[in-house]
Amino acid sequence: MAAKLIDGKAIAARVRAEVADEVAAFTEQHGRPPGLATVLVGEDPASAVYVGGKQRASEEVGIVPFDRRLPADAGAELIAEELQSLNDDPAVSGILLQLPLPAHLDGPSLTALIAPEKDVDGLTPINAGLLALGAPGLRPCTPAGVMVLLDDAGVDLEGAEAVIVGRSNLFGKPMGQLLLAANATVTTCHSRTRDLAAVCSRADVLVAAIGRPRTIGAAHVKPGAVVIDVGINRLSPQEAGNRSGLVGDVDHDAVCELASAITPVPGGVGPMTIAMLLRNTLQAARSQAELAGART
Ligand code: NAP
Repeated sequence: MAAKLIDGKAIAARVRAEVADEVAAFTEQHGRPPGLATVLVGEDPASAVYVGGKQRASEEVGIVPFDRRLPADAGAELIAEELQSLNDDPAVSGILLQLPLPAHLDGPSLTALIAPEKDVDGLTPINAGLLALGAPGLRPCTPAGVMVLLDDAGVDLEGAEAVIVGRSNLFGKPMGQLLLAANATVTTCHSRTRDLAAVCSRADVLVAAIGRPRTIGAAHVKPGAVVIDVGINRLSPQEAGNRSGLVGDVDHDAVCELASAITPVPGGVGPMTIAMLLRNTLQAARSQAELAGART
């Protein structure tokens, strides 16, 4: 039996519509809309496309976009000054430093300069620490989006075996924390895991974030498992055959025969990331407004 497809595109559209309604209410109540600043260093074409998408998505839901661009040879000091001016600007509710940065810059140490209450990517040490402690904070967008997909698909996480393949700070680690907070029994795999197929095939919920096309196949999947494919890999036209050229980390066709539900690539996890960024920006704007209200 073919797995049910989890339609990330439709679920993301619903989240964006909800955020738009709530942004309108926020704007009416506070007399100004939330603002989202993106900081792009250099001219990497893929990063420019991502930033453009975030700017457009902000406008569509009534969030004011602030588009900051710095030259590829910008030094850490210039970027730090830019981030500080955005930290200090009350019209800016959320700040996103587009990664990866040019090779001469250190992404984590510059990201750490974003004020935690404006860190809508949830990647600063403070927000990572709050997540690890199970305390409220801004959560990384892609793993938070996966939680929404699992919820929408009606997946019961209580006591479930969840296996994540990938331990990056951006995705794998926060994904593990979110699943643990939802009372799943969580295992995280990586490139040194001894028998990946054996560990993965224990999973009721299998999340693949590896960055290698079609690494997870039928041997990794327990019949009836829910499979979330986070990978975005671009194949050459020859490799892709007549398909779109984007594939995930899961061998979709093979795994579809075994899984009970699966996310497609494209159209699964990808669309959730921007939707959650917009939701985080609204959450940040609300917390800042509450704090400002408490001070007056
Ligand atoms: P990353 O930082 O490169 O991490 C990859 C992880 O996979 C590492 O922990 C690595 O292990 C592990 N790994 C590599 N080869 C493996 C193997 N053969 N077996 C088991 N584990 C292996 O990547 P990332 O930033 O987490 O992203 C992962 C994928 O998700 C990429 O395709 C990326 O494009 C995609 N992604 C998509 C979104 C979205 O919006 N949909 C957002 C974020 C990421 P080690 O730690 O041992 O090296």
